[in-house]
Amino acid sequence: MAATLIDGKAVAEKVKAEVEAEAAELGGVRLATILVGDDPASHIYIRHKHADARAVGIYTDDRRLPAETTQEELLEAIRELNEDDSLDGFLLQLPLPDHLDEAAAIAEIDPLKDVDGLTPCNQGLLLLGRPALVGATPVGVMRLLDEYRVQVAGRRAVVIGRSSIVGKPMALLLLQANATVSICHSQTIDMARLTTDADILVAAVGSTHLVSADMVKAGATVIDVGMNRTDDGLFGDVDPGAAELAEYMTPVPGGVGPMTRAMLLANAVKAARARRAPLASRGH
Ligand code: NAP
Repeated sequence: MAATLIDGKAVAEKVKAEVEAEAAELGGVRLATILVGDDPASHIYIRHKHADARAVGIYTDDRRLPAETTQEELLEAIRELNEDDSLDGFLLQLPLPDHLDEAAAIAEIDPLKDVDGLTPCNQGLLLLGRPALVGATPVGVMRLLDEYRVQVAGRRAVVIGRSSIVGKPMALLLLQANATVSICHSQTIDMARLTTDADILVAAVGSTHLVSADMVKAGATVIDVGMNRTDDGLFGDVDPGAAELAEYMTPVPGGVGPMTRAMLLANAVKAARARRAPLASRGH
């Protein structure tokens, strides 16, 4: 029987409605972005992030820096946002131009305002299982599993990909939810042996249809994070034929993508709540 397709757009709409209500309840939430340089894809992403935020009543601040910005100028811009008390959260749009040190820039972000969950502090808190701001994509995947009542505890999960923005936090969230988790990457030998045993399979690689239908266990839940843009359109990391075997599967487009956009807004509200809460309950 063909899989139930997980409707990321519908769940994202639900999340956005919650965010809108919470932002209003908080009396306004402010989110800023920093964009360095002229990368055309980054310009599109930033435009979307601002439109998404405005649509749910989140105020936004759009900082643009020229491609030739120095590391010190970038750090100064980050410090300015850290110190701006009217601001609840911000993100640094990646990738940065090659001459800039991404890790050093991220480390400069105030963890309480780190809506992408990329600072060493938030990544460390996640590792320790303590409250943290966690990247929108992995948090969005967990919300999809929850919305579709996919059992996670006690089940075998395989995450393909180990980036700091998707793969690793994804694996840690699944582990926190009591799955037994394996992580695959470019050096994994005989990946199919692991994936065919996975009750929950998350592919976050960036390689069109790397996961073929015969790599999927019958009855599995398949989450396709991959977004591979080609001249023929947008494709995921998983062959859509896998839907013949899976019980649940996210489509591309319309699965994880809309959730990532919505959960960034949820993270802005989460940051706003934490900043307004007494220090003792922040978990930092
Ligand atoms: P990334 O930083 O390039 O990481 C890719 C990961 O895939 C790496 O860990 C890499 O292993 C692994 N990998 C590469 N080739 C592999 C292979 N043949 N077999 C197994 N693993 C392999 O990418 P990312 O930022 O995590 O993003 C992954 C994908 O998700 C991309 O398509 C991106 O566009 C998409 N994405 C989508 C959303 C969304 O909202 N839907 C959000 C974020 C990202 P090594 O570590 O060994 O190199």
